[in-house]
Amino acid sequence: SLKLAQADAELYAAIEAENQRQEDHIELIASENYCSPAVMEAQGCQMTNKYAEGYPGKRYYGGCEHVDVAENLAIARVKELFGAAYANVQPHSGSQANQAVFLALLQPGDTILGMSLAHGGHLTHGAKVNVSGKLFNAIQYGIDETTGEIDFDEVRALAKEHQPKLIIGGFSAYSKRIDWQRFRDIADEVGAYFMVDMAHVAGLIAADVYPSPVNIADVTTSTTHKTLRGPRGGIILAKANTEIEKKLNSLVFPGIQGGPLMHVIAAKATAFKEALQPEFKTYQQQVVNNAQVMAQVFIDRGYNVVSGGTENHLFLLDLVDKDITGKDAEARLGEAHITVNKNSVPNDPRSPFVTSGLRLGTPAGTTRGFGEAEFSQMTHWMCDILDDMDNDEVVTRVREQVSQLCQQFPVYG
Ligand code: PLP
Repeated sequence: SLKLAQADAELYAAIEAENQRQEDHIELIASENYCSPAVMEAQGCQMTNKYAEGYPGKRYYGGCEHVDVAENLAIARVKELFGAAYANVQPHSGSQANQAVFLALLQPGDTILGMSLAHGGHLTHGAKVNVSGKLFNAIQYGIDETTGEIDFDEVRALAKEHQPKLIIGGFSAYSKRIDWQRFRDIADEVGAYFMVDMAHVAGLIAADVYPSPVNIADVTTSTTHKTLRGPRGGIILAKANTEIEKKLNSLVFPGIQGGPLMHVIAAKATAFKEALQPEFKTYQQQVVNNAQVMAQVFIDRGYNVVSGGTENHLFLLDLVDKDITGKDAEARLGEAHITVNKNSVPNDPRSPFVTSGLRLGTPAGTTRGFGEAEFSQMTHWMCDILDDMDNDEVVTRVREQVSQLCQQFPVYG
């Protein structure tokens, strides 16, 4: 049987080019990371061939004895990692994890209260274009413009007015710590379920460098591929509650999914084992330290950082006063091999396709070994470009510097 290079040269070339891109670009997209060779080996294994509808020990297919081991390992490890009583490791993605929770706890037409996309929430938290905003009556909260922090007075007022059945905490672009109990108290006041989507900060939470919602929320969802540094996928965790557990299991399968991706579940098991090691805590602390250094350099160079700094792995750079669009900044930094994503800032005067900001995160750079010195250095290079957007010489110089730095810190070697 042919190996990929011979079997499909066209595809192989694209994969090789992507490998090279990952090696020689600085990755600052806050939702991305580089998982380990062990995780990739597990994800590339023969378990991809196996149908295993159902759950360990209760499958609809024969021959599941070995994939059962993989799924049981993933479940046991993720429960230990987050101190959760219940775990479902089958959701194909973070979005599917959220969808399963909504359908387990709610009826179509019910009211949900989540953070708006424009203020840092995720599409699946009730945005109009997402099924969460179409199937449910989605009310959205945001952040206080002066502090850049979640406006809990607004959350409480909206909860009282609209009586949601579910309150959603969690975000894709928010840089402060969250006191999850404040949401819990509001949910209890109005008799709502409380769910947290911890996708962005799951790795930080696993390492105890960010507050854990797991035993405060009724249900916690996550992706496994961001700060948690596993394969692409989703998980659902919950406190002990037999009623909810049963509903969640049957909503994932057979509710919204068929056969679980057993090779991905195998890779999740390996990633969770890695996250249980002491080095993972050191890594996550470094992720936060690096983000703080980056934010400070931007501030020192006269740039606005939303909420004035960061307490996790990401922050938003607000370029409104610089008259640079997020779109142009993303493109210009991209020319210098620094990969970022444009992002709306609170009350952004520009459309989501253009924006006035950038979202910047440190998980990937920290995985390849960048410390505070490297992050400080590269932030100065970014400022050099943003200070003088039309200057091609600066871009050329920075691209050369980025190339040298990346060679010193190979991702996969
Ligand atoms: N939840 C949050 C908070 C996210 O930031 C994301 C991804 O960006 C998701 C869910 C969706 O995850 P996925 O892309 O795996 O569907």
